[in-house]
Amino acid sequence: MSQSPDNLDTLPVTVLKGVGPRIARRLERLQIRTVQDVLFHLPARYEDRTRVTPMGAVQPGQSVVVQGKVELAEVRFGRRRSLLVRISDGSGALTLRFFHFNAAQQAGFKRGAAIRCYGEARGSHSALELIHPEYSLLPVAAHAVMEESLTPVYPATEGVHQLSLRALTEEALSYLGKPDSNHGVALVDWLPAALVRSFRLTSLPAALRYVHRPPPNAPLELLAAGKHPAQQRLAFEELLAHHLSLRRIRQRAQQLAAPAFVGSQALVEHFIKRLPFMLTTAQQRVLGEIQLDLSRAHPMARLVQGDVGSGKTVVAACAALVAVQSGYQVALMAPTELLAEQHYRSFREWLSPLDIRVVWHTGKSKGKTRSAALQAIAGGAAAVAVGTHALFQDEVEFSRLGLVIIDEQHRFGVHQRLALRDKGRLGEQRPHQLVMTATPIPRTLAMTVYADLDSSVIDELPPGRQPVKTVALSQQRREEVIQSVRKACASGQQAYWVCTLIDESEALQCQAAENTAALLTDCLPELRIGLVHGRLAAAQKETLMAAFKAGELDLLVATTVIEVGVDIPNASLMIIENPERLGLAQLHQLRGRVGRGSRQSNCVLLYQPPLTETARERLAVLRASNDGFEIARRDMELRGPGEVLGTRQTGEMQFHIADLLRDESLLAAVEAAATRLLELAPENVSPLIRRWLGASVDYGEV
Ligand code: ADP
Ligand code: MG
Repeated sequence: MSQSPDNLDTLPVTVLKGVGPRIARRLERLQIRTVQDVLFHLPARYEDRTRVTPMGAVQPGQSVVVQGKVELAEVRFGRRRSLLVRISDGSGALTLRFFHFNAAQQAGFKRGAAIRCYGEARGSHSALELIHPEYSLLPVAAHAVMEESLTPVYPATEGVHQLSLRALTEEALSYLGKPDSNHGVALVDWLPAALVRSFRLTSLPAALRYVHRPPPNAPLELLAAGKHPAQQRLAFEELLAHHLSLRRIRQRAQQLAAPAFVGSQALVEHFIKRLPFMLTTAQQRVLGEIQLDLSRAHPMARLVQGDVGSGKTVVAACAALVAVQSGYQVALMAPTELLAEQHYRSFREWLSPLDIRVVWHTGKSKGKTRSAALQAIAGGAAAVAVGTHALFQDEVEFSRLGLVIIDEQHRFGVHQRLALRDKGRLGEQRPHQLVMTATPIPRTLAMTVYADLDSSVIDELPPGRQPVKTVALSQQRREEVIQSVRKACASGQQAYWVCTLIDESEALQCQAAENTAALLTDCLPELRIGLVHGRLAAAQKETLMAAFKAGELDLLVATTVIEVGVDIPNASLMIIENPERLGLAQLHQLRGRVGRGSRQSNCVLLYQPPLTETARERLAVLRASNDGFEIARRDMELRGPGEVLGTRQTGEMQFHIADLLRDESLLAAVEAAATRLLELAPENVSPLIRRWLGASVDYGEV
């Protein structure tokens, strides 16, 4: 059906006027290949050019149309050569500023010439400027026609500008009529009528027409907020397409084979009994869900969300034991060397007494250790391999891989997860997959972002934990902070001093940490101070961390390498320098390194004044809350979901019109609609996904 020539999704964009092969190639950069693609290339925003604003009434920051007469045009040679054009309209005056201009343009600004401009006003009330405004010189005294509706502004690319995009969409919109009256082709609504009715959606052609060409008097604020029913209809469909693409991955997994771990669970039970603590109810529940998945002959794909310190690692260890009991191997993958080392230590401590061999492998493993580990993995002597993504490089071969555990998954995308699963295949069987994240997000969001995964939440902290007390202090009080470190350490506590830099360069970070360590050593000669950063050799880092854990160091100066997973319960004080440079979720992760024991812990956010408004807000959120769900939500509001969930880096969840936070209230309905569509018209799912995600992003392909 999608192949039929009377459908806009196969009608090439070259049928539109003025689109030859050269323009077509440029349009490809905008992912536009068909007439349908043009229709779904949606405005990023709107400009109101329907009325002229008197110059005297223009406010700084406002985007306006102004009309008046040229008073004066002159070239200024300041820091940058610029052409300044003074214009006025009787109510006031403004200056136009151009940095790029040619002689002809300059000559056009004759004194007394009538001019209309559109631009954003900058500067103060007394000296407003429009920088590089769009303008046209009008025939004298003419009442040139104004735009009648809001002007859409499209995402553009070099060589395809607003005017051409407006012309293209104009023509594409003419295809939206009835097929017989219009070119004989139509846009198919892949949502069956029953579904459109029950979710009270605007009709698709009406929504597209409205969004591309909002009528006169359209509510600008509603449109700017993306909340107009026409926009919401499209956002709904887009979210549905994304959701369905992930659901399809999940369905396909159900057709794949995996080893079913049935039979005795004695190993796990024995392990749990030997632990120095009882599993929380939440841990037990989540473990139960995992065990059920593992007993099935299809690959598990489960996400475990849990706040910092909720005890995800021990649950992962239990899952590993289920696989090991059935004679399979487990790979545990962490995003950093440091975290891999730490997991390796925990797992070795837990599993060696049970006679289970754990090995360690990262990109930095060398020589004999490396070859011994690879051999143990290939021969099956190692039941558990802990490491970084190096575990999935070509030279690593598992003998019987049954379970892959990915810790702190927000750094991996859907594609990487799928690639891992396929890489670990054993004949027809794929390994089970367990992913753990410490950036917990609300249920409705998780259902959308992680729709390819089943999800479990450890929504309870081990008993006796006290929330970390957090204060924000200016660098001017650094001396006081140093004294508080002295006092805390004198009373037997341990502390972290975390150095951050906006520059991600490892070299600079390490340098900053080295300087700080030297300084603190001077100020606090009685303390045993250690320094860890990304440039130390793995063995060195491990020795240092072990010394800190054993209480042989009082103060650990570190870069953000200790951000995730580091677990040293006796540490109860953390200083974070320049916290204003980090995201909220990252700060929460860092702070989660303390508050792991039963002692009251403290965190000092040592900021560099003056703070920007956002930075102040961020630090306030952190002071007020210890709840990872709440913090992740605020972080998404401040930085956007793509940044927090890591989907911006992986290129996933890039929407044309939807916005995960703004449209969160649609998500439950989207999920329900997905289920309905799969029942009513499963054949519509593929073309719907292609419409919004493009043919190339058909990730379900295995
Ligand atoms: P995260 O979920 O942040 O990865 P960890 O797995 O590192 O948390 O666990 C944090 C600390 O809590 C560890 O020291 C771990 O041994 C301990 N822990 C885990 N579960 C429990 C429990 N049920 N009772 C007490 N302590 C626990
Ligand atoms: Mg962890």
